[in-house]
Amino acid sequence: MTYRQLPRQSLGFFPTPLVELPRLADRLGGPRLFIKRDDQTGLALGGNKTRKLEYLLADAIAHNADTLITAGAAQSNHCRQTAAAAAACGLNCHLVLGGQAPETATGNYLLDRLFNAHIHWAGDNRKGETIPDIANELRDRGHTLYVIPYGGSNAIGAAGFVSAFAEITHQIHELDLTHIVFASSSGGTHAGLMLGKSFFNSPIELIGIEIDKDEAGSSAFADHIATLANRTGNLLEIHADFSSNDVSLQSGYIGAGYGVMGELERKAIALTAQTEGILLDPVYTGRAMGALMDLCDRGQLTSDHTVLFWHTGGSPALFAYADELMAR
Ligand SMILES: *Cc1c(COP(=O)(O)O)cnc(C)c1O
Repeated sequence: MTYRQLPRQSLGFFPTPLVELPRLADRLGGPRLFIKRDDQTGLALGGNKTRKLEYLLADAIAHNADTLITAGAAQSNHCRQTAAAAAACGLNCHLVLGGQAPETATGNYLLDRLFNAHIHWAGDNRKGETIPDIANELRDRGHTLYVIPYGGSNAIGAAGFVSAFAEITHQIHELDLTHIVFASSSGGTHAGLMLGKSFFNSPIELIGIEIDKDEAGSSAFADHIATLANRTGNLLEIHADFSSNDVSLQSGYIGAGYGVMGELERKAIALTAQTEGILLDPVYTGRAMGALMDLCDRGQLTSDHTVLFWHTGGSPALFAYADELMAR
């Protein structure tokens, strides 16, 4: 069984480890629990964007780009990994970040600066709304630009999570996994895993935890994921005919909004750190693990199940949330 393989620029170390979390599972009293350590992808403190960037950078290089441009929040893990990938490949990097220049550089933003990324502050526009204008300016100055969308979530990026699904099929063959739980935000991770699941005919249920409220509602976000999965299928020559009904999304955990850490995240971060010595993050994996814990509490994940938590990274942002994390 094969699908079309895209050119790939090596940036990280794969496969990432997949290990059991016996002490956390014991505390939750529900399913057997495993974790996929994509926080250990190896590129500049790791994270799920490394998988997307291996395909995106190969495409940028094939197009003779000398400059990358992408966008995200001020503490974007995607932007930090893109800045590192650009440095590793000898390219310039422009980041369009939400908000205003902070007084002190910390977390992901500090790392962006270490990688010498050029920063454009975009106020409320943290999803790349202003990329086209900045891109035109850079082209006028003679740069050959490669535009990476917010989150790296186009068909080329999502292809990284089709290979990720292929990667775990070798790691889980004797585990009888029933569910994979992960944070879903710009949709590329979700779309790639969906397409991988379909290609490998896997019965494992995917549970995406919605992190960032879609202005147009959760069903618009599900639509976006289905469309992206279909486009990725088209690119990889995998049959795909998804609709929003095929997208399993839990929308009840957004709390006070994107990037606002609450009690759900604080508890999940603390319990995972204290039982397993593993760092989650305040924006994505803290929320997704908090949701997993709630699904156990509510009896939706039980001792009949074996669950894989996909750790998508993000721990550099912990330092930018020190005050919230220490508040009691
Ligand atoms: C980007 C990101 C996600 C979400 O992945 P998408 O493909 O954008 O949905 C989850 N966790 C972390 C730590 C991330 O940086």
